[in-house]
Amino acid sequence: TRFGRFSIGGEPGNLEKKIEDVGLLHALTRSAGSISLHIPWDIPADPLAIRQLAAEQGLLFDAVNSNTFQDQPGQAHSYKFGSLCHIEKAVREQAIQHNIDVLKTGEALGSKSITIWLADGASFPGQHSMQEALQRTQESLQEIYKHLPADWRMFIEYKPYEPNFYSTVIADWGTALMLAEGCGPQAYTLVDLGHHLPNTNIEQIVATLMMRGKLGGFHFNDSKYGDDDLTVGSIKPYQLFLIFCELVYGMNKNTDNPPLAWMIDASHNLKDPLEDLMQSLEAIRIAYAQALLLDQEALRSAQAEQDIALAQEILQAAFRTDVRPLLREARLRDGGAINPLQAYRQLEVRKQLIKERGAETVAAGL
Ligand code: MN
Ligand code: MN
Repeated sequence: TRFGRFSIGGEPGNLEKKIEDVGLLHALTRSAGSISLHIPWDIPADPLAIRQLAAEQGLLFDAVNSNTFQDQPGQAHSYKFGSLCHIEKAVREQAIQHNIDVLKTGEALGSKSITIWLADGASFPGQHSMQEALQRTQESLQEIYKHLPADWRMFIEYKPYEPNFYSTVIADWGTALMLAEGCGPQAYTLVDLGHHLPNTNIEQIVATLMMRGKLGGFHFNDSKYGDDDLTVGSIKPYQLFLIFCELVYGMNKNTDNPPLAWMIDASHNLKDPLEDLMQSLEAIRIAYAQALLLDQEALRSAQAEQDIALAQEILQAAFRTDVRPLLREARLRDGGAINPLQAYRQLEVRKQLIKERGAETVAAGL
C-alpha cells in the first residue's frame, strides 16, 4: 500500500511467500503466470533458486523494476533532488549503475525487460531547469540502454505528478515516447492506467502508441482521481473495454508492435490482496473477451457510412454481453477454478498459511 497498512493476516513476508501466493493465484485463475519484481524491494538472495521455485509454480518473471525514487541504506548519494536527471554527475552515475545491476538480476531470473519509472521532477517553479533535466534524463537512459541485452526491452513509464507537484520530468506518454525513440528500437512506452490527468482519453494514447509500434505494456489498475491504484475495472469498466478494443485492433493490424507485457500495478489496503488480484484478473479477462466479440467488420462499415448511432450500438452490444459464463468455462477447461474467489475462500490452505505466518488476526469471512 502507498500509505498505512492494516494487516488482515497471512500477508507474504518474503519473496518466497509472494511467489507461493502468485502460484496459488495462477492455479486458481490460470491467468497470472508471471511476476514483476521491484529491486531492491524484492531482492532474490539466490536468483537461480528463486527462478526454480517460480518454475515449480508454473511462473515466469516479467519486467524487473528499478527504484531510484527512494534512498537505500548505505548508498553514497541521495535521490532527494532526482536520479537520472540529477544535476550532479555522481548521483546520475549511481542511478545508472543501479539500473545496470537490476538488468543483471533480471537476467539471472530469466526476465526479458526492465521498467523504469522516475520520481524525478520539481515541486516548485525555478527549482531546476526543465530543459536540462530532460536532456540529462535522455542521456542517462541512453547509458542504461547500452547495457540492455539484445533480447531485452526497456519500458519507460510516465506519470503527470506525485511525488513532485509542479513538474515531473517524464510527465506524459509523448515524453516517454520521445525518450524511448531517443534510446533505440528496444525501448518502449509503458502505460499505467492511473498515470493520467483526469478525463484523459487513454484509449487514444493506446491507439497512438500501437500505431507507432511503441507500446511496451501495461500497468493495469483503476482510479477516480489520480494514481489511486484501485482494483482493475472497479471504477471505469467501459474505459477498460474501449482500451481493449484498441489493443485487439492494434494486435491484429499493427504487427510492428511486439507482444505486450500485461502487468497489474495496484495497491491493496482494504481487501485481501489475493482476492483483489482475482477481481482485477477477471476484469481484464472480461474486457478482453468483450473486445474480441466486437464486430470489427460491421463497425468499419458503419464508420464508412458515417452512421454514428449504429457504431455506438455495435460497440455497446459487445460491452453489454455477459461473458462471465464463457470465462468460467474457459478457466475450467484450462484446469483452473470455475469461481476462483469462492474456491479461495474455501481453501483450507489459506487457514494454514495464516497459521504458519503467525498472523494476529484472522480475516473476516474465512
Ligand atoms: Mn506503475
Ligand atoms: Mn502508479
